[in-house]
Amino acid sequence: MGTLTPMMQQYVDTKKKYEDALLFFRLGDFYEMFFEDAKIASRELEIALTSRDCGLDEKAPMCGVPHHVAETYVSRLVDKGYKVAICEQVEDPALAKGLVKRDVVRIVTPGTIVDGNLLDEKSNNFLASIYLDEYGVGLSYVDNSTGEMFTTEFIGEEENSQRFVLDELGKIMPSEIVCNKGFTRDKKMIGVIRNKINPYINVQEDTSVDVESSKDSILKFLKKDDLENNRLKEKIYSVLSLGKLIDYLRDTQFNAIDHIKELQYYEPDHFMLMDINTRANLEIHETMRSKEKRGALIGILDKTQTAMGGRLLRKWLEQPLLDKKQIESRLDMVEFLGNNPFLLEEIKDILKTIYDIERLISKISNGNPSGRDMLALSQSIQNIPQLKGILLETGLKQFNRLQEEMDDLRDIHQLLTSALDENPPLSVKEGGIIRQGYNEYLDELRVSKTKGKEWLARFESEEKDRTGIRTLKVGYNRIMGYYIDIRKSSVDQVPDNYIRKQTLASSERYYTTELKEIEDKILGADEKAIQLEYELFQEIRIQIKKEIQRLQKTSKLIAVLDVVMSLAIVSNANSFTRPSLNTKGIITIEEGRHPVVEATIKHQLFVPNDAYMDTRDHMVHIITGPNMAGKSTFMRQIAIIVLLAQIGSFVPARNADIGIVDRIFTRIGASDNLSQGESTFMVEMNEVPNILRFATSKSLVILDEVGRGTSTFDGLSIAWAVVEYIANKVKAKTLFATHYHELTQLQERLQGVKNYTITAEEQGDDIIFLRKIIKGSTNQSFGIQVARLAGIRKEVIQRASEVLATIEGSHNINMDQPIEQKNQKQMNLVDYRKDFFIDRIRNIDINGLTPMDALNTLNNLVEDAKKLKE
Ligand code: ADP
Repeated sequence: MGTLTPMMQQYVDTKKKYEDALLFFRLGDFYEMFFEDAKIASRELEIALTSRDCGLDEKAPMCGVPHHVAETYVSRLVDKGYKVAICEQVEDPALAKGLVKRDVVRIVTPGTIVDGNLLDEKSNNFLASIYLDEYGVGLSYVDNSTGEMFTTEFIGEEENSQRFVLDELGKIMPSEIVCNKGFTRDKKMIGVIRNKINPYINVQEDTSVDVESSKDSILKFLKKDDLENNRLKEKIYSVLSLGKLIDYLRDTQFNAIDHIKELQYYEPDHFMLMDINTRANLEIHETMRSKEKRGALIGILDKTQTAMGGRLLRKWLEQPLLDKKQIESRLDMVEFLGNNPFLLEEIKDILKTIYDIERLISKISNGNPSGRDMLALSQSIQNIPQLKGILLETGLKQFNRLQEEMDDLRDIHQLLTSALDENPPLSVKEGGIIRQGYNEYLDELRVSKTKGKEWLARFESEEKDRTGIRTLKVGYNRIMGYYIDIRKSSVDQVPDNYIRKQTLASSERYYTTELKEIEDKILGADEKAIQLEYELFQEIRIQIKKEIQRLQKTSKLIAVLDVVMSLAIVSNANSFTRPSLNTKGIITIEEGRHPVVEATIKHQLFVPNDAYMDTRDHMVHIITGPNMAGKSTFMRQIAIIVLLAQIGSFVPARNADIGIVDRIFTRIGASDNLSQGESTFMVEMNEVPNILRFATSKSLVILDEVGRGTSTFDGLSIAWAVVEYIANKVKAKTLFATHYHELTQLQERLQGVKNYTITAEEQGDDIIFLRKIIKGSTNQSFGIQVARLAGIRKEVIQRASEVLATIEGSHNINMDQPIEQKNQKQMNLVDYRKDFFIDRIRNIDINGLTPMDALNTLNNLVEDAKKLKE
């Protein structure tokens, strides 16, 4: 056993402080990892694992990456769920006495990535902090790459707090969470979060929670500002979560948080609420099955030209408005641009030239911007004066206000164009960034550099003449500096004042005192120029850093313009119409369409449908009709039209008058969800009870085949009870698609319930879907025809037809009977059900079940077996 070398000791000491992170340890031009970290990194990054003497008997496993490409490797590790601590040499190795000092300068975590190829340009990357206890919850979150920070809180029973925070998390989809222990107590909720959001979770001890120290952290962060100004004075829960967020940022970013300027407190009930499942079911950001943007609503809506606009559009979709005036103000802008296509094109052309200003300035403020980043900023702001001109000319109140608030940033553009070379290199340490004429001394140094080249040329020709050696050459390399190269054959003609420098196979190299002088001048000037350029670049960087707030504000305004422009483009291209809004709770849609389905079916015509819903006589729609008839599409299109209207977008309909809704809920029958690989447990978390509890008379509720996941009898009873409860108590506008035909009896029994069906026609063995929704009901399922459409084997379908005929012959349901009695009258179905039951057991794919699924399946089977026996 030896002892660790001093350098390895330094490594081990540093690593001890950052045990939960992989340590990137700077050694010269590389970041090295050792021991366990090296093994992990070499596996995850697929780079070679080597080893290095560390003073102990066994060598230390080691792997490394070159420093100039480190960012990509760091991003990859973070994307795989690791934290990475970057340890730099914090003193100049040339000046260090003994071991170079090293220290961790930054910790990269999933929620704090600033730059890196893994950030989706059009999505925010949020780090969230949560403090939850039995009386309330605070939620704060920040996008370190754009500098936006938000906080909110909810006071109420723990269960409601959980629901609240889950809905908010579903909205912001953080990639990392810092939370207190109290938040993690409910394993079910954490399960949902892991499954649906999959963030990196840092749990902190509750003992470290302290309102006063949180306030201190916040005040220090806000600098001159105070809590009162930020509406945080009475918001203990917000304060607790925000304090932790700021502390965590400081711990990981080492105070490089000056770019985070905008702290916004918001009341969550200022926006329409949707839970995490509703967002997924409506396929707003991605499709349920393939998790892709294509085929999702955003895929149709996003014609934004800038990254800021793309992110803001997402935010608008996540936070639809409730205020009629605010919505109409957005609609005015969309309408104006839609009616002025030339203007729209002009704006679009300018927006196209704008890069991601928000992320550029974060990088300029904290990261290592290159000359090219600066240039991109300069190009992004150069057309803002022109943009302002266009907005002013519109004469529209909203656009005039936008232009008034928009800073033309001429001074910053002026600074950047006068300072930056048009074609700067990537590195900021090699010169070539600063433009001629920006700095006099730099220009002088550059002159002596070019002059030096002239002197050299003259020196060479003079020496040729003087020595008579025609092959004499002056050359340069980085190690040797300048030299005179003489072929071996001419060595005897070399004059006395030549001093030998190096011997090569075919030539000798010399220098003279004169050459040395020239060399000093050239190299000195070059070195000085590069150093000066670097300093000038840093000065510009700091100057821009001072203007961050102006830049951030203007990029926000550009984002707004970009979003309304995108909405105008989309409504023109897809024949959307401007909705009117009311606060009477009445939804009237004429010829509504589902924008995504309409775009996907291409060759076929989409059949538009009307809808009328209110809170009295047309409250609950029971929708029956065969599978594949278009029930889900119809229900979702209503929800999407309402959602679009409330973000201030035009809607896919001929006419729409939308009663503003406070929440949209959607719930899909368990069997549908199960087919997408969700465990029943997950489904439970967002059970119907939640809807019944949180929906109000102003909500829109969509229930698609609810009750299907359990056995038939249970399912029907649940569905029945749910409709009753909604119609009697909740009074939310509700669309309920079901294959339980028995539910249509409710129309007669309850006020506000209306039956609808989607038409289909049988033509021989085939089925023609007419896709029109009409009043009334149907109990024809056309299941067999649908199966044929789905490509099920002919003989199976034939056999199914026979079975169906037998069952139908023996089974006559009397619609007027209460359901309790009916169950007993269906005894002649039991044999058929038994067969079916056995088949179900036979077909269970045991290997494909999670333990949880297995338990649930077993439970369902036991329940059904009991019922068969009864
Ligand atoms: P259901 O919920 O009744 O089983 P879906 O709503 O899932 O049926 O619709 C099935 C398919 O029918 C959709 O994927 C779409 O291709 C087509 N479809 C639905 N509604 C319409 C419509 N109004 N016009 C044209 N095609 C439609």
